[in-house]
Amino acid sequence: MRKLSSLEPQKVFGFFEDITQIPHGSYNLDGIKQYLIDFAVSRKLEYVADDVGNVIIKKPATSGYENVPGIIIQGHMDMVAVCDEGSGIDMKTSPLDVFVEGDLIGARHTSLGGDDGIAVAMALAILDSDDIPHPSLDVVITANEETGMEGAYGLDISNVNNRRLLNIDSEDEGIFTVGCAGGARVKCTISSDTDSIPDGFTILECKVSGLLGGHSGTMIGLGRANAGKLMGRILGAGCKVNSNAFLLKLTGGTADNAIMLESIATIAVPSADSGAFGSAMMDECKIIAKEYADTDPGITFCVTTLDNAVNEVKISLKRASDFLNELPFGVIAMSKDIEGLVQTSLNLGILKSESGEMTAEFSVRSSIGSERDELIERLKKITEGFGGTNKVTGVYPGWEYKTESPLRDKMIKVFKDMYGYEPKVEAIHAGLECGFFMDKASDIDAVSIGPDMQDIHTTSERLSISSTARTYEYVLKVLADKD
Ligand SMILES: [Zn+2]
Repeated sequence: MRKLSSLEPQKVFGFFEDITQIPHGSYNLDGIKQYLIDFAVSRKLEYVADDVGNVIIKKPATSGYENVPGIIIQGHMDMVAVCDEGSGIDMKTSPLDVFVEGDLIGARHTSLGGDDGIAVAMALAILDSDDIPHPSLDVVITANEETGMEGAYGLDISNVNNRRLLNIDSEDEGIFTVGCAGGARVKCTISSDTDSIPDGFTILECKVSGLLGGHSGTMIGLGRANAGKLMGRILGAGCKVNSNAFLLKLTGGTADNAIMLESIATIAVPSADSGAFGSAMMDECKIIAKEYADTDPGITFCVTTLDNAVNEVKISLKRASDFLNELPFGVIAMSKDIEGLVQTSLNLGILKSESGEMTAEFSVRSSIGSERDELIERLKKITEGFGGTNKVTGVYPGWEYKTESPLRDKMIKVFKDMYGYEPKVEAIHAGLECGFFMDKASDIDAVSIGPDMQDIHTTSERLSISSTARTYEYVLKVLADKD
C-alpha cells in the first residue's frame, strides 16, 4: 500500500516513495540505477549511464527557454543505509517501511534516504512533466557519494552540457551553500631509534581523556583540544626532567575526521627520576586544563606504573614528543570572503604504534587547493626532519567561493520574491560533490540547497513535507526565471 500518495506535490512524493522501495545503500545501486535508466527510456529522454555508476538524463529547453543558460540538477542516488540494532532488517534487500507523522516522513527502524532521494525525486518530477517551463537540463545522479564521492570523482564532465549547477544535497531550507572544503588524509610515520631499553627503567602508562572532540570539518573552529597534541606537550614536559626516556606504545582516536578524544602512551623512564617525571607531566596537564577551561572543561590526565609493557616501538621520548609538538593542528586560516568560515585546517585523528613505527594520521581540509597542498607539504617537511616518511591518500578538491556567480544572484533574487526575505549564503568546511565538478570544469557556477531534514545518516532521519513542497516550488521558479 502506498503511504505517501496523498502528499503534495504528488509527483515528487510518488517518485520518492518508489525510491524508498528499492534498496539503495552505497555500493548496492544496481536496482536504483536500473530504475533511473527505465525512467529515461520510457520517456524517450537521452541518458548516459557511465562506468562509475552515475546516471545522467537530459531534457531540452522548453519553448521560449532555448537561449536561457541551461541548468544541471544534481543529487546522489546512494543513501547511508542503517537500521536499529536487533531490528533484523536486511538493508541490502528490504524496502523501507515509510510513515508520515505530522509534517515529517520517516522510516521505521531505518534511515530514510531523504539524503539524497528527495533530490532524485524532484529531478524526476521535473523531467516527467510537460507543463514546467525550463532551460536545457542535465540531471546528474551520482553514485556512492556517501563513501567518498566516487561517482563525482569519476564523472566525465564531457557528458554534461550545462554549466550552472544546482546541487540539492543540503539539509536546511533557506541556506544556500556556495563553497566547501577539499581535503586529503596524510599519514606521518617515524621509526624506532633503538633496539632495547637498558636496565633501571620504570614503565609508566599516561592517559589524557575527558575531551569533547567533534567533527573535524564542522567543529574545528571551536578551538577544542586534541588529545594527541596534548599528549605531545605532556610527554615533552616530562622529558625536561630527564630526556633519557623512551616511548613504547602510543594510541589515540579511531577516525581521521574526528577530533581525538583520548590518548594513551606507555613510556619507560629512568627509575630514579620516575616520581619527578610523573609530577612534571601532571603539572603540565594542570596548565593545559586551565588553558582549555572554556572549550574542554573535563580534561584529565593520569599516570600509572606498570610491571611490564608491550614494546610496540622504542623511540626516544624526546624525539617522539618533539615530533608531536611540531606537527600543526587546528585552524590554519580563516576565509577573507565569508565571515567566520574556516578556510584551511587540519586534525590529528589517529595515533598508532606498531611494528617499530609510530604513526600520526591527519585530515587536512581547505577550500583553496594550493593551501591544502602547502599544508600537506609542511607535514612532509616536518616528518622528513625527524627521519620519517609520509603517505597522502584520498585527495579531493574544494569549492572556492566565487565572488561572481550569476546563478547565485538569480537564486537569491527568486528566493526573495518567493519568501520575502534573503536566504543565508554560507560556505562549509566539509566536502560536497560540487568541488569535483569545478575541478573538472572551472567555469561551473554552483549553489547547493535542500529541504529541511533532521538526523540524516541515522534511524531517526526525518524529512519535512512542507519544506520539500516549498523547496520544489522554489526550484520550479528558478527554472522558470530567464536571467
Ligand atoms: Zn547527501
